[in-house]
Amino acid sequence: MSDNAPARPLRVAIIGAGPAGVYAADILAKSQDKSEHTFSIDLFDRYPAPFGLIRYGVAPDHPRIKGIVKALHKVMDRGDIRLLGNVDVGSDLTLEDLRHHYDAVIYATGAIRDAELDIPGIELEGSFGAADFVSWYDGHPDYPRDWPLEAEKVAVIGNGNVALDVARVLAKHAESMLTTEIPDNVYEGLAASPVNDVHVFGRRGPAQVKFTPLELRELAHSQDVDIVLYEEDFEFDEASDESIRTNNQVKTMVNTLTNWLVEQEERTEEASRRLHMHFLHQPVEILEGSGEQAGKVAGVRFERMELDGSGGVSGTGEYIDYECQAVYRAIGYFGSEVSGVPFDSRRGVIVNEAGRVIGDDGAHMPGTYATGWIKRGPVGLIGHTKGDALETVGCLLEDIHQLPPAASPEEQSIIELLESRGVEYTTWEGWLQLDQHEVGLGSEATSKGPVERERVKVVPRDEMVRISRQLDRDLG
Ligand code: NAP
Repeated sequence: MSDNAPARPLRVAIIGAGPAGVYAADILAKSQDKSEHTFSIDLFDRYPAPFGLIRYGVAPDHPRIKGIVKALHKVMDRGDIRLLGNVDVGSDLTLEDLRHHYDAVIYATGAIRDAELDIPGIELEGSFGAADFVSWYDGHPDYPRDWPLEAEKVAVIGNGNVALDVARVLAKHAESMLTTEIPDNVYEGLAASPVNDVHVFGRRGPAQVKFTPLELRELAHSQDVDIVLYEEDFEFDEASDESIRTNNQVKTMVNTLTNWLVEQEERTEEASRRLHMHFLHQPVEILEGSGEQAGKVAGVRFERMELDGSGGVSGTGEYIDYECQAVYRAIGYFGSEVSGVPFDSRRGVIVNEAGRVIGDDGAHMPGTYATGWIKRGPVGLIGHTKGDALETVGCLLEDIHQLPPAASPEEQSIIELLESRGVEYTTWEGWLQLDQHEVGLGSEATSKGPVERERVKVVPRDEMVRISRQLDRDLG
């Protein structure tokens, strides 16, 4: 142990118990095997339950991704990372509180908001952000329980995996979602939806899509939903040919789309719902209805685009209007600012270099780090945040002798502070209780209903906290 290494464990707070936060906590905890230092790690989340975007961002019909929860559960179940849920950093705890109680803080707050789409009509009734809709169907406690699903024709803007998630959930018949963990209100809302046509619009071509092959192919497995493609959208320039030649993922997706285009000619039966995929359509305006429909979405105007040879597009000056009663923009997520932490409001990330948070003076803010989507923006699959966590924790370990020591590093002191402020924090034991409760609700529903339900999510925050805290009365 070096001379100035503290005799006590270093106290580290990680803010955000999504995959990014849990990976960082895991890597830090495991680094103790090779280090002279020991760590005492608190993992905070503003929600009563852990797992962030896996619980509140992954589509319920994606159990494969939900499987990642099993790995994260195993990490947390080891018992060397303390979960403190239902704690909002910013209101329940300030930055000063964190500095007072911890030697280092890692922000892993992710990105849950929708990126802005600055076109006329975006504020109309019936124009939604995909992230908000995802939060609704994933039973996010801070979102309204009702979602207006009144449209027969829907437009989804964007060609990423979120656009596919939203389009698939909107187009699917609700019965096929019942086996998942969707809350009852979500099932009932989807079951009453009058939707017939969901149109997905990408601004570039079929070789420039951002979604991934598995997620694309999955669209074809929705029962009684036809995929409809348009021959005039199948444009490929030099850059497209190059990526088809050199990138297997692009090649697979272009093949899939082209096969569907050919196969749709041979279709003998028509499904009751259609999922249309359009390319080379740039949204320019959301159109408003008239008379009784004033203030509401009546359609979207697109400019027809053409490929510019380098993978980009330019406008053709030709405009096309599509009738629809709802528009979902799925053009990317955006990070939220944590008060007092330097934020790049253009990119929606905490200002950082390799995970070290950089202050206005251009210097590293001692003991302050970022990881995951709030560090590098909302791109990449869940597994990629592991690489981020490795880099960030690596920086923290390099800086270990310069960390500003906490004034109150005792594990109990933060609990006393939360209790003195009346914060009803939840713990890992509390989550196990809630988890068990939700699985129990699933079995109950299975015994009454027509299908097997793996779990039924508890949505209201108060109820989540109440169930979680039944076991938690005397943490310390
Ligand atoms: P994304 O992959 O970045 O896709 C955003 C899409 O929006 C792109 O097609 C982009 O087009 C388009 N776009 C951006 N600005 C636009 C504008 N002004 N007008 C029209 N279109 C615009 O973002 P995402 O779909 O939100 O996904 C975020 C990350 O989560 C991705 O890494 C994704 O793979 C991951 N994810 C994975 C799954 C899964 O099931 N595996 C599910 C959900 C999310 P350009 O390409 O032309 O910019």
